[in-house]
Order: sequence, then structure tokens, then C-alpha cells
Amino acid sequence: MGEVTRDRAGEAETLRSENQRLETLVRKQELDFKTLLEMANAINERSLDPRGIEAYLQYICTAVRGQFGVLKAHVVREALDGETRRFVLTERGKVAFECERDGAFARAMVTARGAVPLSGDPVANLPEAEQLRALDLETVAPLLRFQNGKAELKGVLAIGKRLVKAPFAADDLQMFGLLGSIIAISLHNAELHRKAIVDNLTQVYSRGHFDLAMEAEISRAERYGGQHHSDEVRFVSLVMMDIDHFKRVNDTHGHPVGDVVLRMVAKALRQTVRKSDVVSRYGGEEFALIAPETNKEEAIRMAERLRLRIAGDKADASGKGVGVTASFGVATYPNDAGNLRELVAAADKALYAAKERGRNQVVAASGREHA
Ligand code: GH3
Ligand code: MG
Ligand code: MG
Repeated sequence: MGEVTRDRAGEAETLRSENQRLETLVRKQELDFKTLLEMANAINERSLDPRGIEAYLQYICTAVRGQFGVLKAHVVREALDGETRRFVLTERGKVAFECERDGAFARAMVTARGAVPLSGDPVANLPEAEQLRALDLETVAPLLRFQNGKAELKGVLAIGKRLVKAPFAADDLQMFGLLGSIIAISLHNAELHRKAIVDNLTQVYSRGHFDLAMEAEISRAERYGGQHHSDEVRFVSLVMMDIDHFKRVNDTHGHPVGDVVLRMVAKALRQTVRKSDVVSRYGGEEFALIAPETNKEEAIRMAERLRLRIAGDKADASGKGVGVTASFGVATYPNDAGNLRELVAAADKALYAAKERGRNQVVAASGREHA
């Protein structure tokens, strides 16, 4: 074989292997793209998780752990208690890390635009990076959302060590960064949705959500039991509650104190009921509570518990304790009503009776009127 032929063969070999390398690369990129698309869809789909943003964030972390094969994944973001100046990372209900929302670390994450290792530029020398590394986290991606050309940082996605020894390659980093942007948009949607269905003053559901939740519960009870299947009855109880002489609170202490009392009552409601119960602000100082799978006796007991808790609470009004009492009306499907409209009317009527009989008491509906 002459020199020229050998050169040609070498060239062909080089070309072949370069071709193969590119093909593998394209295939991997296609695969990454497909995975990313699937993850984006799954993440978006769950952004309106009826169990709330916390449950949704947990889903994200689980998905990210699986996808990147890492031991730990966390979303560092605005705390849900209304504190908006700081980002926090909670682990088992406790704050494990926090940073200023517009501090140096947050600014560095905006500058980074994409995913960066905590040991690299532009975060490595910041104390926050050190703190995150101490939590066994290694890589971070900003949750960036763009509006009118401006970047808004919604939080930070942080992941830990990989389970496999393979290093986090450049394209993994890129994919992780893209995922951060997808999560940012999805999280923004979830927050907008939450704002739309939660009452701003009291942080319980608003009237619109109550109507939808009530409808869903009644149709579920109808489908799985209720009046059509006498062997298995599914109960839905409704408790309507109205604060007694609330106008006097406003008149005596002023509207802002009235607001504090409303918040206190809402908190008592949230803390006294089960997780599956839906608490909502039905009107000004009137609240409604949907208790699925709860029969009349249980609902009356729950209302009584609530009544005692509210009567015992005191709101702080410039050093003075302000207390209120409340009246309750309880009605249960299918005992007291055959449909949603009748159930609301029955609970309302019972509440009216509680007011008539002297307030600060629970009255239950007295069965169906046109059974
Ligand atoms: P009753 O025992 O018969 O229920 O008497 P009440 O004074 O509670 O009833 P009424 O319906 O006459 O008054 C309700 C008051 O609730 C009137 C209104 O000023 C007050 N209110 C409604 N929404 C708010 C609110 O968001 N903040 C404050 N501070 N007050 C509110
Ligand atoms: Mg009232
Ligand atoms: Mg009222």
C-alpha cells in the first residue's frame, strides 16, 4: 500500500468516527429534548395541584431527583407565610437555609442565567454558597421568569450529589438550567392561581372556590353513594359560621382591629379542621366549611369545637385583648338536602336559628323539609 492510499484510509476512518460522534450527540440531544418536554408537561400539569403549592413543589423535587439521579433536590423560594423579602429552603418543616431576595446571592443567580456549580463562578465565594454546600447541595439553577424583558428571580433549584459516579456534564448543566426556567413559569402560574382562589385578608379560600369545591363534593357523594345507593351513604357536611355582633367590634375598635379579628378567626378555623376540609370566606364576616365524608354528629362536634376555640381566643389590639363569639349552622347531605342548593339553604337557615336563639351556639338543620 502506498503513502497516499494509507492517508486516504486514515482520513475515511477519522470521518467515520467523527460522524459517529455527531450522531451520538444528536441522538442524546434528541433524547434530552424529549425528556425535558415530558418533564415540562408533567410539571405544568401539576402546577394547580389542589393540595396546594407545597405539594406541587414536592412533586418537582421528586421528579428532579429521579431525572438527574441525585440524592437531594430542593426549591429555595418565598416562604408561604407571606414573608416575601427572603427566600427559604425548608427541610422537614424547618427552615434550613435562607437568603435575601435581592441580596448578593440572588443577584449572582440572575447574572448566571443558567445552572452553575456551587463551587464555581459567580457564586463560589458567597457565604450562601457555602451554607448550601454544607447541606450537601452541589449545583444550583435560577428560577428565572422574564416579563417585559426583565428577569424576575422566583427562587433557586438546588441539587446534591449524583448517585452514579458520572460527572455533571455541560449538557446536563444546560438541561438543568432550562428546567429552572420551566419551573419558574409554572410556579408563577401556580401563584396566580392561588391568588385567585385564596382570600387575601384571611388566607382561606374565597367564595368562588367554595362554590366549585361544594359542587365537586356533592357530585362525588351522589356518584359514590348518597340517595341512589342506599347500601353505602356518602356524607358531606356544611358548616356556615357568622361572627356575632361584628359591627360592634369595628365601631368600638376600628376597622383595622376588625381585620385582625377576622384573621384570628380564620386561623382558628384552619387549625381546627381536617386537611380534607375546605374553609372559605363566604362573605364579609361569614365563613363556610365543607367537611367531606363527615356525618351530622361529627360535623356538630366539629362546629362545637370551633365555637369554643373562637370564644376563647383574643386578638391583640394595641395591648388590649379583643374577643368575639360566633354562631354556627350545620347541615348534612343527604340527611338535610337532596342537592347543593338545598344544602346551602339548610345550613343558612340553621345559622339564622342560632342567631335567633341568642348567638354563640351551634344549631343543626332538622332534616329534609320535602323528603
Ligand atoms: P350578627 O350577630 O347579627 O351577625 O351581627 P353583625 O354585627 O355581625 O352583623 P352585620 O351583618 O350587621 O355586620 C357585619 C359587619 O361585618 C359589617 C361590616 O362592617 C363588617 N365587615 C365585613 N367585612 C369586613 C372586613 O373585611 N373587615 C372588617 N373589619 N369588617 C368587615
Ligand atoms: Mg355577624
Ligand atoms: Mg353576617
